[in-house]
Amino acid sequence: MRQRVALLIAGLVMWGFTGNGFAEGTDGHSGKIRVLLTYGGHGFEEKPFFEMFDKMEGIEYKAIKLPDQADMLNPAAAEQFDVIVMYDMVPRITPQQQEAFVALLKKGIGVVSLHHNMGAHRDWDEFRKIIGGKFILQECVIDGQTYKPSGWAHGQDYKVIIADPEHPITRGLKDFVIHDETYKDYYTAPNVHVILKTDCPNNDPEIGWVTSYGNSRVFYLMLGHDHLAWSNPNYPILLKRGIEWAAGRLK
Ligand SMILES: [Zn+2]
Repeated sequence: MRQRVALLIAGLVMWGFTGNGFAEGTDGHSGKIRVLLTYGGHGFEEKPFFEMFDKMEGIEYKAIKLPDQADMLNPAAAEQFDVIVMYDMVPRITPQQQEAFVALLKKGIGVVSLHHNMGAHRDWDEFRKIIGGKFILQECVIDGQTYKPSGWAHGQDYKVIIADPEHPITRGLKDFVIHDETYKDYYTAPNVHVILKTDCPNNDPEIGWVTSYGNSRVFYLMLGHDHLAWSNPNYPILLKRGIEWAAGRLK
């Protein structure tokens, strides 16, 4: 009987550790970085995209489609996830969901925003402050300056320049050429720290930066339209390091 009680207690303790759906580890979960991955609002090559995350060592993820599952972006998510990787381009979430999302960022969850996510939440001015940039879909005024709609071009070969070779995300990497979409005439917040640039005339110079919002570390990476970009050997390195840095695991 005593043994059974002990087993029951052990079982309850284990259940408590694994109740978030991830495997048990020394610090309450597996030790892997737990990613909440958003998508929706823009088509993409789903199979190779998710395969890239499947292959990423030390990372486990749950993908949610916005806006349907936008209620997941609330302060309680900070208990279950270390980083939100945003690949959605939804026009909007509700004002209540926006408020809950900001409250989550105040808790300090990491943010990695990818590619077309810069055009998401188009009418929510706060979102450009969260990620430090905005792809302009409709003419608007930011800080007294008028911005016309941004442009884009598919299938470009262009140089990615390591603007900050000392940053943990880019350390040791060399300039490289990528085959990807370019963006032009977007808004970049003046206070971001640019770590990746380009000299491509079809693209504004800033293509990767770090910033912060609330207590969250934020990394924006413009690259990543499709498998032609994701298969560049530098892409998964930048993505994984960005996730680790946003989680506070890469110093
Ligand atoms: Zn794209």
